[in-house]
Amino acid sequence: MSLSAESRDRIEAEGIEQTTCCIVGGGPAGAMLALLLARQEVEVTLLETHKDFERDFRGDTLHASAMEILDEIGLADRLLNLRHAKVRHFTVPTKGGPFTFDLFAGLKTRFPYIVVMAQSRFLEFITEEAKRYPNFRLAMGARVEELVEEDGVVRDVRYRGRDGWREVRATLTVGADGRFSKVRKLAGFDLVKISSPIDVLWFRISRREGDPKEALATRVGSGLFLVFIDRFDYWQVGCTIVKGGYKEVREAGLDRLRRSLARVAPEWADRFDELKEWKQIPILSVEVSRLKRWHKPGLLLIGDAAHVMSPLGGVGINYAIQDAMVASNVLGEKIRIEEPIRDQDLAEVQRRRELPTRAIQTFQSLAQKGVARGVLSSAGERAFAVPRFVLPILKIPWLLAIPARFLSFGLRPPHVEAGKETTPRAEDASPPSVPTG
Ligand SMILES: Cc1cc2nc3c(=O)[nH]c(=O)nc-3n(C[C@H](O)[C@H](O)[C@H](O)COP(=O)(O)OP(=O)(O)OC[C@H]3O[C@@H](n4cnc5c(N)ncnc54)[C@H](O)[C@@H]3O)c2cc1C
Repeated sequence: MSLSAESRDRIEAEGIEQTTCCIVGGGPAGAMLALLLARQEVEVTLLETHKDFERDFRGDTLHASAMEILDEIGLADRLLNLRHAKVRHFTVPTKGGPFTFDLFAGLKTRFPYIVVMAQSRFLEFITEEAKRYPNFRLAMGARVEELVEEDGVVRDVRYRGRDGWREVRATLTVGADGRFSKVRKLAGFDLVKISSPIDVLWFRISRREGDPKEALATRVGSGLFLVFIDRFDYWQVGCTIVKGGYKEVREAGLDRLRRSLARVAPEWADRFDELKEWKQIPILSVEVSRLKRWHKPGLLLIGDAAHVMSPLGGVGINYAIQDAMVASNVLGEKIRIEEPIRDQDLAEVQRRRELPTRAIQTFQSLAQKGVARGVLSSAGERAFAVPRFVLPILKIPWLLAIPARFLSFGLRPPHVEAGKETTPRAEDASPPSVPTG
């Protein structure tokens, strides 16, 4: 969308903000990169379109590699003071009944579990931490709608703020604005779609005393694959269906869906009556896709903006944080000492992240096909069961450590290479106020 003449006048009248790095999108990728750069004394402006971090359609899982990065910058223990659950055990259906195993038993890390924490709390924590640095600025309710290029280099970002149009001029712009990235569209980048045989119905039901204790529970049957995420005040439920199956589910009616859900997850059977209208059950069109090129002069894309992740495996947040870590490692020092950021520097970020991203997306594509097959086979009379040959693997910690490591860290997990020593200036160094969830 183009700016009106009136809005342009206003931007000119009120001046243009100058910063070193302008990050679009306050999700895990953008918030984390902003913090990592702020720690390195880089002037950074973070623009987030929403007025707060409360959103339903989000993931909640932090794996060991994200926790290790947070540990390296001294934040892991404080983060774990916020309300969260740790998930180590998973239960799968077998022909001999449910089988529970500790996925992370053989993993060598301080964090052999998945942390389940409301993403909104996590983002508030990270941005509160960034606010301790005087060189960080956060603009909430700032919707980016234009990129301005000069001689083929992205120079400015224009956004619609609470009180009109604003403009930020930056040495580097980072698009971290998620799966529907506006920056990606404005830059003219096309996504290469990989596979998506499943969709997810996403809804909440109430939580009651005596509910299962699993923070992350899965159930399969009746053509559905259910994931229950304990959000303490309610259960967030992801219900996987085969792609294109939504029309059929709707035509069969809400009553049929409620009955199927109750059959697959009898522990929550009395709760599905809370689903009274389809608008309570939005559908997430699952996508796995990535960009061929993550950058152009003056602009870098990271996180879901560069590679849309499936919710499968709950790793999208991890990959967003890892992208931020690599971008900070490669570019932070150069930006700080005002060395020009060359296209090769941006290409280096993509080079380091491309293989890990391709590997996990390949895994997600294969796993999605497996889930789709499992979902389809569970639609019949026979209950879905994990194949017998998988069971011995689930009982041997060192063998389990192979998939656990891949899920928790991926290939080439990054660590803090720069900015370790930077602390806020003395006058700003009081502990930030952090919501306690
Ligand atoms: C329903 C669902 C469940 C999921 N479950 C999990 C899970 O359990 N675990 C997991 O790891 N991953 C999960 N994922 C994937 C995960 O959420 C993403 O991979 C991850 O959030 C990507 O982080 P990001 O920072 O790149 O993008 P996002 O988290 O999408 O953040 C992008 C941010 O940019 C902002 N923005 C967008 N447009 C603009 C604009 N024009 N101007 C300014 N700001 C803008 C958005 O408001 C948003 O805050 C799930 C995804 C979905 C959809």
